[in-house]
Amino acid sequence: MKALQFNVTVPRFIAAKALAAFLGRRVFYQGPLRTVRLAEIPEPDPPGADWVKIRTLACGFCGSDLNLICLHDSPTASPFTSFPCVIGHEVVGEVVEAGPEAGEFAPGDRVAVNPTLSCQPRGLSPLCPSCRAGRPGCCENFAEGTLPPGLFIGICRGLNGGFAPYLTAHASQLHRVPGELSLEAAVMTEPAAVAVQTVIDNPPATGEHVMVIGCGVIGNLIVQTLRAFAPPCHIAVIEPSPFAADLALDCGADEVIPVADVFHRTSHSTGARIYKPMLGKPIAMGGFHRIYDTVGRGATLNLSLRLLTAMGTLSVVGIGRDVKLDLTPTWLKLQTVRGVYAYGFTQWDGRQRHVFDIALEMIRRDEIRAADLVTHRFALEDYRRMIAVNIHKNRHRAIKTMVVFAE
Ligand SMILES: [Zn+2]
Ligand SMILES: [Zn+2]
Repeated sequence: MKALQFNVTVPRFIAAKALAAFLGRRVFYQGPLRTVRLAEIPEPDPPGADWVKIRTLACGFCGSDLNLICLHDSPTASPFTSFPCVIGHEVVGEVVEAGPEAGEFAPGDRVAVNPTLSCQPRGLSPLCPSCRAGRPGCCENFAEGTLPPGLFIGICRGLNGGFAPYLTAHASQLHRVPGELSLEAAVMTEPAAVAVQTVIDNPPATGEHVMVIGCGVIGNLIVQTLRAFAPPCHIAVIEPSPFAADLALDCGADEVIPVADVFHRTSHSTGARIYKPMLGKPIAMGGFHRIYDTVGRGATLNLSLRLLTAMGTLSVVGIGRDVKLDLTPTWLKLQTVRGVYAYGFTQWDGRQRHVFDIALEMIRRDEIRAADLVTHRFALEDYRRMIAVNIHKNRHRAIKTMVVFAE
């Protein structure tokens, strides 16, 4: 079968980066230095009795897939990746083969796959402290156990990601998709779970002012999640694309703040007083109680700290290259900066639930309008066009793009 495979070596990394400076990012998916290609690989077999084989129905393309292909990731996470690997971690599929210990799952079941490769899929016992605490997203064993290194499927040499017609998954990675959900809605489960976990970990109180920076897929889903289960709060967003900004307003944001006018508008919106230092950018006293930065660049993180109120919390949702931070506001205003990665278990409706199941339930109830965010569908063979659309999202009015596999 044909699958979308990523691979790179150190010499090719250096050459591709140098060439991209002149020719642009197309060198990463076209021509001799490309990092992805359609490779012929064998159909996978479940590696254990508690594993299943899945026929892929659809897989979403994530911003992190683009970062991987364009060699934009920080090398810090490289001990927890291995390649060549089949990419894609927003997977919906149908179980076609279930091992005798795969629990409740049987052929014909439609499932969303939690991509995290934590202690359980890695066959490790006892579980690490994070997995024991119900937060397998920050498992300590991403480079241990029976599988090659990999935080999740899509960056692990030993298991296919979702840009392949078939993959295998451990039973603990599976979440049943309600029958009435469309493929478009179901494929949004993984990004919706990121947004739900973000809000659970940094929940606003009634009447607070919050800001979402970047309203692509994750930012938009954070706005929707805030509206669905946070108490009434004021939501401001920063989003340069008019198309994405309008969609954020439509999904529950109160205002879009232009970045050029951000200090004045913050003052107007939150009542903050703005002070101008001898040098450099202004700083707010007062400001936003919670900021969710889905971009994670130096400019947005520094801006966040300057706009965040005393004892406010900044959620770092997006991540990219290393950044230079002025931590003076954090020091002066006792702010908390917390990371957001993946998802785990939480108390919900009186019982312990996985955030994937909460996201699926919110999508089913239409509290998260997930399918509305899917703007483009492609066949796997058209992957180059899909990557190009993701590089120029504004031009193509793209939010979420996905590959749909033939029935
Ligand atoms: Zn992702
Ligand atoms: Zn673990």
